[in-house]
Formats: sequence, C-alpha cells, structure tokens
Amino acid sequence: MGTMEDLRVTECTQCSKLVECRSRIVNGTGPEDADVLFVGEGPGANEDEQGEPFVGRSGSVLDDQLRIAGLDRETVRITNCVRCRPPENRDPTAEELENCREYLETEIDRLDPEVIVTLGKVPSEHLLGRSVAVTAEAGSVEDVRIEGAPYRLLICVHPAATLYDRSQEETFAETIERAAELAGADGSDGGQTRLDGF
Ligand code: SF4
Repeated sequence: MGTMEDLRVTECTQCSKLVECRSRIVNGTGPEDADVLFVGEGPGANEDEQGEPFVGRSGSVLDDQLRIAGLDRETVRITNCVRCRPPENRDPTAEELENCREYLETEIDRLDPEVIVTLGKVPSEHLLGRSVAVTAEAGSVEDVRIEGAPYRLLICVHPAATLYDRSQEETFAETIERAAELAGADGSDGGQTRLDGF
C-alpha cells in the first residue's frame, strides 16, 4: 500500500486551458487515515497562490465550523475535483472534470473515508452523477459507488455561500455537525454500520 505522497500530482498537462492559467497543481491535504474527506470544486486564486485547498475566506469559514464540530482541519482530508485553477474562477468543464477524475478516485480509494462531504454543486453533481439542488438537498446523505466501492456522501453548501447569503450559515453548520456525527467525532459510533446491505 502506498502513501499519500504517492497521490501528489506533480506534473500533468491534460487540461490545456488550466495549464495556461495555473501557478501550480493544488493537491489534497490532510492525513491518510482521515475519516472525513471534503471535496471542493477546484482551486481559486488563494489556493493557486498557496498550493492548498480551501484557504482564504472560504477556508476560514470551513475551519471555524470544523472546530465547532470537533473536527480540526488537521484531522480531515480536503481535496478538489480539479487540481488546477480554472481561469477567472469559471466552473471546470466536463472534460476537465473527467481528466482529473482518476486522481480524485485514487485519493478516495486510498483514504476509504467514513464520509465524503461535497462542498457545493459541482462536486456534488460530479460524484453523484445527477443534478443536485444544493440548497434544498444540503444535509442529505446518499450511498454512492465510486469505482465499484461503496461510500456515504453528505451534500453540503459551499462555505462561500454563507458569506453571500447569511441564511445559509445554519445549513452549513448543521451539515458539518452531521459530518462529525457520521465520522464518530462527536463521540457517537457514527450511526449504523457503514452501508450495511449496500
Ligand atoms: S486539472 Fe487535473 S487533469 Fe487537468 S491539468 Fe490539472 S491536474 Fe491535470
């Protein structure tokens, strides 16, 4: 079995438009035995500059809520659907998402988390393979198969949504609390045995 260092993508030129724009490839961060894996859309300007997912204001919102829920950032894994910054923060294209999918799937397979938390519409739709109304569905838990393996996926609003729409704060907080419950970080056993019968 390899280590997370094996998961670091250091050279990749599959997405020509992103290669032109990026300063660096932004890999996932966090321990390889993390119970919770957060998946965002892709790096923004701060992430591209610092080489780490979810820094800047969105990262602060996430960090604060993680602390409140008993999930320090150092104990969770955070990654993105695409590892290179799309120009002007546009959504990644379907082709770019597919290009980078193998890296994400390898990371999920290696980590085998108790719960995958998708932060926003793009990662939710990417991993569920269907349209997702994130605001309405935030907090929902679904069983998914990724490369044939079963996982539990929790839909969450993007932390930045709480900055633009204060009504999203409670939803975001409740969803992160739910992630902690599912991971057993609140002292519970995380609920039923993972994906029994799935
Ligand atoms: S987004 Fe992923 S697949 Fe595309 S160039 Fe970057 S690392 Fe490669």
